[in-house]
Amino acid sequence: MLHRFNETQFTSTSISTNKLREDFQFLKDHGYKVVPLSQLLANSEKGKLISFTIDDGYKSFYEHGLKLFREFDYPFTLFIYIEAIEKNYPEYLSWSQVKHLSKFGEIAIHSYSHKHLTHLDPISIMRDTQFAIESYKTHLKEVPRYYSYPYGEYSYETNEVISAFGFDAIFNQSTGAVSNETDLNFIYRTPIQNETDIKKTLGLKYLKTEWLEPLKYPEDDLLRKVIVRIPSGAEKAEIYVSGIGAWQPTRIKGDIAEIQFKQPIKLTKNLIRIFVKVDNRVGSTLIVK
Ligand SMILES: [Zn+2]
Repeated sequence: MLHRFNETQFTSTSISTNKLREDFQFLKDHGYKVVPLSQLLANSEKGKLISFTIDDGYKSFYEHGLKLFREFDYPFTLFIYIEAIEKNYPEYLSWSQVKHLSKFGEIAIHSYSHKHLTHLDPISIMRDTQFAIESYKTHLKEVPRYYSYPYGEYSYETNEVISAFGFDAIFNQSTGAVSNETDLNFIYRTPIQNETDIKKTLGLKYLKTEWLEPLKYPEDDLLRKVIVRIPSGAEKAEIYVSGIGAWQPTRIKGDIAEIQFKQPIKLTKNLIRIFVKVDNRVGSTLIVK
């Protein structure tokens, strides 16, 4: 997952094209095949497949990133924030630029108004998504196939609303790998930044998980336990809660890994990510206030 290119003032969402060129070269030298999302999701091809997605639709992709993708002949999927385009926000692409980009990659939607969906009621989420789809259809003359959450934020409730639109796939920003067992409504993406060690990132493998607790942000802001089903046959796992610190080792009994905190943890951030790791296999979830 990428956002901005050569915009040095945005340290966590921008990548320099020099760093990205090194990463692209690494993929090329090590037999990775960069394919369009549609090809990845069709699951018809074997081998080490990669898809690049770019969120928001900043001008800096057009001005700096595109050239590099063309140089390597790598496809991409661009998730556009539609209101920004319609209202000509200065940092964002225009419709004619989006149309030009659609010759080299797939265009998908990243909501209409880029709001925090977990703060909206289902009707507002539906309306926002309908606006986005209508506008996309008007300008690009086709139906959008993919959706990515603004800020990567979702809950089981928001996912129910978005998945009812029948997108081929819905993308979040939870770190993890994917496999052909991945639920297409919850596709993980891994950010590539200037500090990213691409080799290490590619070493992460898919871990099948079913999150049982917490399923939503606790109303009293206190996290008491984490329970996750890991049908992997492994006996040990490690669990990490963002903002809390170290990986905590735990045993897997049956196929359940559970951590009960002696002292409930006071959650201070509005977005909490929880990771579980078995060897180099990783899964994660998030809860949003
Ligand atoms: Zn965004």
